[in-house]
Amino acid sequence: MEKKKAIVIGAGVAGLAVSIRLVLQGFEVTIFESNWYVGGKLSEFQLDKYRFDAGPSLFTMPHLVEELFWIAGKKSEKFPFKKLDEVCRYFFPDGTKFIAPAEKEKLVEEIHFHLGEEKKVVEKYLERGKFKYETVGKLFLERCLRKPSTFLNKQALKAYLKINTLGLSTSLNSYNEATFKNPKTVQLFNRYATYNGSDPYQTPAIMSMIPHLEFGIGAFFPENGMIQISESIAKLAESLGVVIHLNAKVSGIKTENGKAIGLETEKGFCKADVVVSAVDVSQTYSKLLGMKGIGEKYLKLPKSTSAIIWYWGVKRKTEQTGLHNIFFSKDYKEEFQSLFKKKEMPNEPTIYLNISSKERIEDAPDYGENWFVMVNAPANEGQDWDNWIPATRKIVLKRLSQELGFDVEKEIEVETTLEPRTLESRTGAIGGALYGSNSNSQFAAFLRHANFSTEVKNLFFCGGTVHPGGGIPLALQSASIAADYVKACNF
Ligand SMILES: Cc1cc2nc3c(=O)[nH]c(=O)nc-3n(C[C@H](O)[C@H](O)[C@H](O)COP(=O)(O)OP(=O)(O)OC[C@H]3O[C@@H](n4cnc5c(N)ncnc54)[C@H](O)[C@@H]3O)c2cc1C
Repeated sequence: MEKKKAIVIGAGVAGLAVSIRLVLQGFEVTIFESNWYVGGKLSEFQLDKYRFDAGPSLFTMPHLVEELFWIAGKKSEKFPFKKLDEVCRYFFPDGTKFIAPAEKEKLVEEIHFHLGEEKKVVEKYLERGKFKYETVGKLFLERCLRKPSTFLNKQALKAYLKINTLGLSTSLNSYNEATFKNPKTVQLFNRYATYNGSDPYQTPAIMSMIPHLEFGIGAFFPENGMIQISESIAKLAESLGVVIHLNAKVSGIKTENGKAIGLETEKGFCKADVVVSAVDVSQTYSKLLGMKGIGEKYLKLPKSTSAIIWYWGVKRKTEQTGLHNIFFSKDYKEEFQSLFKKKEMPNEPTIYLNISSKERIEDAPDYGENWFVMVNAPANEGQDWDNWIPATRKIVLKRLSQELGFDVEKEIEVETTLEPRTLESRTGAIGGALYGSNSNSQFAAFLRHANFSTEVKNLFFCGGTVHPGGGIPLALQSASIAADYVKACNF
């Protein structure tokens, strides 16, 4: 019997993951990717003697990648990664420095010692975060919110019984302020809102489950850098028979009697029984289906933060820094007001510095380090980036030089920049938003598009702009939910 054909649009992690799940369901799977490389936002580049991961730098929930190898029966082919002992180094503007260890007990000790919080308070906060993740988190992230069965089961019942303690009606910041006495601890735990590009002053306190991912499950580093995640999934997909066409932009989804029947590409029409869009949902409707009204609806969802990233090859080693480093701003509230209310660059941004050569020495020459320096930025709406980017660069250089005790600019050997406009043009992320729409409201999860289309039969969705949201783990979950839908349709 001839195999049914599935076509996937986009070879980001979500598109690659769904292709593996569909090939294992017995489909003949083809991916069309507009770029010349796979991985989408998860890519790498070389700048002289320095290698950089272009996008994600923090690897959490690795079991979601491992699962793809398990279900394919190729457990032994998964790539090597290590659990980090140290999660992040924090630098506060008043000179307080603090290293967050991965082990929960040690973290509690460190927060008690450096920030003066009661150990019991921190322990309880982390325990409640774990509970939230295991009840509501899993419920919302691993299942479809459009199925009644999601809300009618034992796990959901457990969540309803504890609804008052879950923090759906207060903001993450209010919850953290009510828990901790030191504003620095509040800032530290507010930061987790940015893990999906949201605002701690608006996002619900349920987000206090995110630290559990780092301190409960762990933060990891792939031995050959983040690129190994997308490369290894692509290799697995190809080994199972998935065909990946690069430099192959999809220009339309063809429908007949309300059913997706294939794709239009530069090379012509390609027929399919199932179409999975792993690209921006608003663009899928507006540009690929010509359904502008629905496209607009999803385009209007408030976007997550974007970013300005400077990739610097620095000809110097720094002892004070680790793999992940955060240099907090003085006024976090003002920073998020600028990002989300004014949609401007903050006067004083919090700086994230990632140095992968701390773990993978080949990423930089023996005298230097590869610095990935990122600040949050509002999603692009045509703001004055040409002035803001150099102005912010100066502020960032000044702060890093003060903290590290040398003139950073003088040590930069090579440099390139990624910013909201180039993020959009390179990955198709609207406004350069890193994580699709933000989670600033308690209804955000219900406003995201589902993993199937109610408008077009045989069309399914995965990726950072649909349920359950952005970030590598959620993009992988979306692929799993979309594949389950396809399976349930019995093609
Ligand atoms: C700078 C940065 C830092 C980040 N940091 C982290 C982090 O530390 N941890 C984390 O978990 N997440 C992080 N993220 C978010 C994470 O990268 C994304 O959520 C995730 O990679 C999204 O994967 P995706 O498959 O949904 O989409 P994408 O990676 O965007 O892939 C979509 C693909 O579709 C292709 N495409 C678009 N239109 C078409 C078309 N018409 N035809 C064919 N192909 C098309 C694109 O070229 C692209 O390859 C970060 C993102 C960025 C940009």
